[in-house]
Amino acid sequence: MGPYHPECPDRLHAIGDRLISAGLDAYLHHYSAPAATGQQIARVHGTDYIATIEAESPSSGLHFLDPDTAMNAHSLTAARHAAGAVVLATDLVMRKECRTAFCAVRPPGHHAERNRAMGFCLFNNVAVGAAHALAVHGIRRAAIVDFDVHHGNGTEDIFSRDSRVLMVSTFQHPLYPYSGLDNPAAHMVNIPLAAGAGSAEFRDAVREHWMPALERHRPEIIYISAGFDAHREDPLAGLKLTEADYAWVTRELVAVAAKHAHGRVISTLEGGYGLSALGRSVAEHVRELIAT
Ligand SMILES: [Zn+2]
Repeated sequence: MGPYHPECPDRLHAIGDRLISAGLDAYLHHYSAPAATGQQIARVHGTDYIATIEAESPSSGLHFLDPDTAMNAHSLTAARHAAGAVVLATDLVMRKECRTAFCAVRPPGHHAERNRAMGFCLFNNVAVGAAHALAVHGIRRAAIVDFDVHHGNGTEDIFSRDSRVLMVSTFQHPLYPYSGLDNPAAHMVNIPLAAGAGSAEFRDAVREHWMPALERHRPEIIYISAGFDAHREDPLAGLKLTEADYAWVTRELVAVAAKHAHGRVISTLEGGYGLSALGRSVAEHVRELIAT
């Protein structure tokens, strides 16, 4: 996104460092993300949109797709691999080579709509993964859980007319992208939280809104749009979650997956811009993903 931008390469270094220092790295299997194919991306994005992104990819310097979202010469390749990570994770989990997966990817994806780049996002990584599970692995019901502090408008746009995919989320409102209040279908369960809300309000929303929806939907696979920018130390927003909240919600989702989805949970990084808080939060999230 350019120099001095919070969506920066150091985010992934902070995560990697913390997984090592927390003693978790030794328990993980690392995979390199392949590039998603055009066919895989076209399941959730229009072919005209994909062609536009490809045409606007600069050979040097920065090209702004919107005021928040820039590309450099490497962004298109990175975006293809970020989406491909969730495809590979889906294949690994469906083949039972892994029970759960965490995709440490940039750029993030959940603001990317079917035909629009937004909010540092080019392709909607979690949507590409879920669409792959539906198209290739015979999954009939999937869930996407989004606890990023920003509403996942792209994911809502892509799946609001596909009731095979339940979306449950919490997000700070009002805050970018100022959407999420409409809940355009019964399978879109997006819960706004006011600035200053913390553990109690978040856990109440999960218990009162997410869990009943997940129980009704009985997803055969659970995806997590794992943004950690609702952490109290995050510089971009005003919720007050802590590492303990991320551990708690991950345990809750792992339990739902054990009941309905053969334990299948695939988490993919979205936001999270306080580097220390991001590393600590991902470590607790991953600790719960590999706990059982
Ligand atoms: Zn975010």
